[in-house]
Amino acid sequence: MDEFFVPKIENGQSLPPSEEQLLAAESVQERACIGENCSADLMKDPALRRIERTGIPKELADSQRDVKMMKYEKALKYYDRLVGHEEKSFGWIITTEVFGIKVNVNIVMACLLKELEARCKAMGMTDLKFKSLSGYTVKGGFHDYGMAIDFDANDNWPAKPKQTKYNLPMAMVNELQKMGFKWGMYFNTGRHDGTTDPMHFEYRGTVDDAIAQLKSPEARKIAAEYVLPKWRFGGQTLHQYATKDKKSTSRG
Ligand SMILES: [Zn+2]
Repeated sequence: MDEFFVPKIENGQSLPPSEEQLLAAESVQERACIGENCSADLMKDPALRRIERTGIPKELADSQRDVKMMKYEKALKYYDRLVGHEEKSFGWIITTEVFGIKVNVNIVMACLLKELEARCKAMGMTDLKFKSLSGYTVKGGFHDYGMAIDFDANDNWPAKPKQTKYNLPMAMVNELQKMGFKWGMYFNTGRHDGTTDPMHFEYRGTVDDAIAQLKSPEARKIAAEYVLPKWRFGGQTLHQYATKDKKSTSRG
């Protein structure tokens, strides 16, 4: 049984869904990504589509990830030592454009997001766009270092587990988890009220692990060209820093 909406194609154009199709789609929580912005090809694989989903999917097992994740406290300390606080962290923050939108993030995050975008395209999500992305903001946790990203806050708002709704393609969510991101769905949010945070992803790997997994030319270019803050890294590019033996260099 095909429980997902498949648009009718007429003269190469997909027709808007009928009332019945909309109702049927609603009943399986598949309302978004119907009609505009969706190619017929994409519709075939629900994992590639932006659809409103409910419930909490199983977290990717560590064995399915490419990057070993650090625990929250350890990872925060790692980025605190590396990036520093407040004005010092500005040396690591850049404005970059991904998924059709500009966002301020850590340079390491910028590389990871470019890589993610390339991987999504390769999987068939060729026109994946977001209305809002929020990276570097001083609001506590990984956002302070530009190492967390919120996707479309309005469609992925924190909620109690039973009321959780989110609108992100699962293939993208899983790719992020593979790359070493912890999804806000799986840990207590800053609110400490037992809510999930589906918009939120934070990178829990090291800089070396981030750079080592970059395959897309766009992502590698940023890493190769970006010069880290001089006051501490003496003119090294991000790529040079990540591929050096850290024991032989002073990190202050
Ligand atoms: Zn967040």
